[in-house]
Amino acid sequence: MPYKNPEDAKKNKRKYYLENKDKLKEKSRQYYYENRNKIIANVKKYQEEHKEEREKYFKEWCKMNKRESDKRYLSTEKGKLAHRKANAKRKRNLKFEPLFANPFPNDIDMDYHHINNLITIPIPRKLHRLNYGNNHREKCNELIMDLYGINIDNILRGD
Ligand SMILES: [Zn+2]
Repeated sequence: MPYKNPEDAKKNKRKYYLENKDKLKEKSRQYYYENRNKIIANVKKYQEEHKEEREKYFKEWCKMNKRESDKRYLSTEKGKLAHRKANAKRKRNLKFEPLFANPFPNDIDMDYHHINNLITIPIPRKLHRLNYGNNHREKCNELIMDLYGINIDNILRGD
C-alpha cells in the first residue's frame, strides 16, 4: 500500500531494515556473489545515466565548500592518507583500504568512512559529520549511494 506521507514510508523502511538487518545482509551478500557481474554493470549504468546531474551536484557542492584559505593545507594527499590509515589502526583497531581514490579537489576536507572493518570510501568531512551518531554506517551508505551511485549493501557484506 502506498504511503501518503513520504516521511512515513522512509521511517517504515528504516524500521523494517533494523528489524531484519542480519537476514537482509545475508540475503544481499548471497545476492551479490550470485550476481556480481550484473551488479557492477548496473552501477556503471546508473553512473552513466546520472552523469550530468551527479557532475553538476558535485561541482556545486565543491564550490560551496571550498576553504577560504589554503594556507593550512600543507600536507600532501598521500601524506594525509597515510596519517589516517595509522590513526584508524591505532584508535579503532580498524584496517584501512580505500575502495577508490579521493575524487574531490584537494581543497575539500575529506574523511574516509569505514563501510565495514576493512574498506573505506572517501566522503567530504562535512557530509560525514552530519551523519555522526546512531546508525552511522547505514546513513553513510545512503549518502554514498547519492554521491557515487554505489549501493554498498549490494556490493559488500556489512560486517
Ligand atoms: Zn563514517
